[in-house]
Amino acid sequence: MAGRLLETKRIFGQPVYAVDIHTHSTFSDGRGTVEQNYQAARNAGLDFLFATDHGSLAQKRKVKRWPDASWGQEPGVGGHHLGLLEGRKLFRPPKTDLAAICRAAQQIAPFIWIPHPVGWYNQTWYDDQRIAELWTLGDCFAIEVMNGAGKIVRAYDAFDQKAVAVWDRLLSDGRKVTALGGSDAHTPDQIGTVWTGVFAKRRTSASIIRALNQGRCFASEASLLDFRCGTDAMGSTIGRRKGCVIKLQYRVADATGIASARIVANGATVEEIDGRNQPLVTGSLTHTVGSRPTYFRIESMASDSLRAFSSPIYICPA
Ligand SMILES: [Zn+2]
Ligand SMILES: [Zn+2]
Repeated sequence: MAGRLLETKRIFGQPVYAVDIHTHSTFSDGRGTVEQNYQAARNAGLDFLFATDHGSLAQKRKVKRWPDASWGQEPGVGGHHLGLLEGRKLFRPPKTDLAAICRAAQQIAPFIWIPHPVGWYNQTWYDDQRIAELWTLGDCFAIEVMNGAGKIVRAYDAFDQKAVAVWDRLLSDGRKVTALGGSDAHTPDQIGTVWTGVFAKRRTSASIIRALNQGRCFASEASLLDFRCGTDAMGSTIGRRKGCVIKLQYRVADATGIASARIVANGATVEEIDGRNQPLVTGSLTHTVGSRPTYFRIESMASDSLRAFSSPIYICPA
């Protein structure tokens, strides 16, 4: 796996960091120690690891000795779970609604997100009411569109398929929702199945968290994605007058080869791309700005079916 990611990075040719934002250790219900998880992340070729145990921050002392690891927390909140990176203190969720809980978490942590937004661990499907709570979270937030809980070979399953469908509905309703991938590893061998590709300036938690907050990231099982409009990266909001023509550029890399990719706008596929199993696929499409906001995102499938999903670019008629 490390070999594939290293070779894919070489082909991609742009600086990007593969970050696992979501792992569990023996400080909560994980079977691996923080040390074993860290070693597994290195073996998988990942650039950074966050140790996000459930009700603990004791892992913080352990990860602080490594420059490429940091801490987080994943408490259960109402019906959902909530991910926090680098909380100043242990988060004890207030017994209120999800939106108020998120606002409280943002007071102590520089980045929060909703893990596995439609359910978890191959068994627990959230009902429609719980999923509808995502619509109360304001205009801008982040969710895992791929979660690897219980997975070793690949993460993408029926839960992730539904998470992506819910994501498109949120985006179509005008929300700005960043795409994340978290292994949710409870054993070290699950680390590397899915991660978040982050366009951070430096391999530091501060730089990674800044990029996550800007939506400069994508969820991936293996491939690397770039999607931009000129100098505006994924996650950007671009204001243009109606009738203005913009050009969106994509770059998809995978050492194993890209089978296909597609560009999605407002819930519908607007471009199908045949990757012909090439390791690097690049191209562009043009869009005439209309009278309503539009989002664009790209997703890819490698020759062995592994997936990647970019965060969107948001086009706003100015
Ligand atoms: Zn969880
Ligand atoms: Zn978890």
